[in-house]
Amino acid sequence: MGLVCALALARSGTDVVVLEALGKLPREQRGAAFHPPTLEMLEPHGITGDLLPLGLRIPVWQIRDKEDGVVAEFDLGMLADETRYPYRFHLPQHHLAADALAKLRREPRATVLFGASVEGLAQEDARVRVRYRDATGAAAEIAASWVVGCDGSRSIVRKASDIAYEGFTWPERFLVTNVDEDLVSEGFAETSYVADPDKWAVILRLADPRVGNLWRIAMPSDPDLPEEEVMEEGYAQAMLREVLGCDRSFRLIYQSTYRVHQRVASTFRKGRVLLAGDAAHINNPIGGFGLNGGVHDAINLADKLGAVCAGADDGLLDLYDRQRRHVAVENVQRQSIRNKKLMQERDPGVRRRNIDELRSVVRDPERARAYLRDSSMISSVAQAAAIR
Ligand SMILES: Cc1cc2nc3c(=O)[nH]c(=O)nc-3n(C[C@H](O)[C@H](O)[C@H](O)COP(=O)(O)OP(=O)(O)OC[C@H]3O[C@@H](n4cnc5c(N)ncnc54)[C@H](O)[C@@H]3O)c2cc1C
Repeated sequence: MGLVCALALARSGTDVVVLEALGKLPREQRGAAFHPPTLEMLEPHGITGDLLPLGLRIPVWQIRDKEDGVVAEFDLGMLADETRYPYRFHLPQHHLAADALAKLRREPRATVLFGASVEGLAQEDARVRVRYRDATGAAAEIAASWVVGCDGSRSIVRKASDIAYEGFTWPERFLVTNVDEDLVSEGFAETSYVADPDKWAVILRLADPRVGNLWRIAMPSDPDLPEEEVMEEGYAQAMLREVLGCDRSFRLIYQSTYRVHQRVASTFRKGRVLLAGDAAHINNPIGGFGLNGGVHDAINLADKLGAVCAGADDGLLDLYDRQRRHVAVENVQRQSIRNKKLMQERDPGVRRRNIDELRSVVRDPERARAYLRDSSMISSVAQAAAIR
């Protein structure tokens, strides 16, 4: 999100320096689902146009029950009169970072320093001094009028500013797999959520020219099992058989685990320090809000910070905090926690009611439209904009 925020700032005429701890952009498995408002926000920077040919446009997505099969199928085409991008767009996040970096390198007002690991900061009246290790390991310092912490969930910027990261961590690790399989012919939409008390799944199709049919399948793992056992191929194969409902071995090409948190920083602004992306909020991946919410922060903040650097009142930055923190708490945390509970509901009576409710939403065009606006984050962007 740092690169997107920096690009938007540089293009608005603001001098910007990006400090990135790694030596180059990471290519690890992270967010991969872009929602319509995110594509709209990236469009003026030329990013959407660059990314669209690389990924998959997915208008139709499913909620399934492991036992009952398809419960609800939603078509974002219903929102074609509200957005230029009436689909989910699947593409691994590192493509976004690479595109933003290439554009940033062409901006005369921007400098990107790789291998620059921030270690601390001190706020003064009119500036912030940031201490970091440079690529040679030497101690270095830079002073800036404003600092934006886009340094992920373990943010040093947040910790050094003594901002609390309130919330909780789910007990189970998530098991992420990539398989090379044709799941469309087995009836799966290219975004599918499978509900089950113990063996639910988030299923996304991705595009990769090296792999015929690449799908990412994220599932819970038994919190009582040691990491080594969860990382055994046999464990992933057994989970895949359960969630996909077929008795065969899968072409498994990737397997890892990660911990999932629900946390929001107590403020997104403290003096001259601002937070965006995972540094400001983190949630479970059911619904695909992390990457998208981070871009929404980055663009919202760049608009306001660019104006402040050009002379506007810095109260605009309090508005950033009010707008983006409100939707992080009221929309993203609520929806992602509700989605996870819906997926893993244990009580058979509640599960049945959830299924009936979803089926009635799909049958009613007005309710289906409202459901799509919420799940694709159109509502949260509108709610943020309405806060003054
Ligand atoms: C396995 C996995 C799957 C996910 N799946 C989804 C999904 O399907 N949909 C979705 O929307 N989201 C998903 N997410 C979440 C999404 O990837 C994050 O919300 C997103 O990466 C946040 O971006 P960010 O730039 O805020 O933080 P990050 O991507 O964490 O980037 C932070 C950057 O800051 C750098 N940094 C850290 N510390 C320092 C320091 N001290 N000095 C300098 N630089 C530093 C890091 O090297 C890194 O480049 C997933 C996350 C994971 C881990």
